[in-house]
Amino acid sequence: MNSKVIAITPAPRGLPMPPHGEGASGPARDPRGRGLRDLRISVTDRCNFRCVYCMPKDVFADDYAFLPHGELLSFEEIVRLARIFRGHGIEKIRLTGGEPLLRKNIEELVRQLATALPGIDLTLTTNGSALKAKARALREAGLNRITVSLDALDDGIFRAMNDVDFPVAKVLEAIDAAAEAGLAPVKVNMVVKRGTNDREVLAMAKRFRGTGHIVRFIEYMDVGSTNGWRMDDVVPSAEIVAMIGREFALEPIGANHPGEVAERWRYADGQGEIGVISSVTQAFCASCNRARLSTDGQLFTCLFAEQGYDLKSMIRSGRTDAEVSAAIGAIWRQRADNYSEVRTAETARERKVEMSFIGG
Ligand code: SAM
Repeated sequence: MNSKVIAITPAPRGLPMPPHGEGASGPARDPRGRGLRDLRISVTDRCNFRCVYCMPKDVFADDYAFLPHGELLSFEEIVRLARIFRGHGIEKIRLTGGEPLLRKNIEELVRQLATALPGIDLTLTTNGSALKAKARALREAGLNRITVSLDALDDGIFRAMNDVDFPVAKVLEAIDAAAEAGLAPVKVNMVVKRGTNDREVLAMAKRFRGTGHIVRFIEYMDVGSTNGWRMDDVVPSAEIVAMIGREFALEPIGANHPGEVAERWRYADGQGEIGVISSVTQAFCASCNRARLSTDGQLFTCLFAEQGYDLKSMIRSGRTDAEVSAAIGAIWRQRADNYSEVRTAETARERKVEMSFIGG
């Protein structure tokens, strides 16, 4: 297989233009009544990890052609688009990637977003490798919360999964540093893959129980087209809740906000909570209010999309905010995505955009 062909930058679809006078501003709703609340922005397609289920080494090899710098949205462009999205009802922004802390001066982007969009819930997802050094600056720049990915406590399993021999201890130090910097409670994301790290579930629950941090167990998904996903690799969330529940009594708790992807459970003895994200076994398309902005400025209306809409070309060709806003509104109003409701072994083999590019 040719790696340069697989991890594609999809050809942009034509931008639907709204009927006259429609869609310039105001909260957009798609045909299923789903609003636009959550914007995920991928600030780089590069990562220093090669997680076997996300950026496998055989595809993302040393000669892999990542986007040239000029193709990335600049900070100014990101802030401009974020402001325009806000007009459509965005309440939360998550900076992601690739590894967002690899983007030079990421703290400056955080500062600009926090200043331009007062009151926005500003969050970031990281592998934690550079977080210890940056946690305080991120917090001071206006970051509200942070999610750190950690797939195992066993050092051998973790090193094998990140495939760059990165030790667990450094991620744990980063989680502590983030909490000390005022980014607590830290969310800790664990992707569970059967036969790879499922025996770490209980250890993770125990490690973070009583710390105030919230572990979220994520079903392994068929994002992109390079991870060789099979349904047999998925550990259903129900199994995870049962596994932890046998050790510690758990009680379901309500969502923090409409469209929250994690189903929340609390320890009955008051020692905190966990979350499970069941995108495979319990599709949450019906309430999905997330839009994604890829590293090169394309709007994706679904994590499993094959193509995006090229907003960068719009802003680089001199379109006004009102025009870009109208295009976003028109895209959202015709959104019909429901991939997780219709997933089959066949759809899993379809060519979808890579998560490192679209933003996890
Ligand atoms: N580099 C950052 C990090 O490691 O958190 C941000 C980007 S990463 C793509 C975002 C999240 O997506 C991580 O928690 C990662 O484990 C998760 N992820 C990647 N591939 C996945 C898959 N196939 N199924 C489920 N989650 C996945």
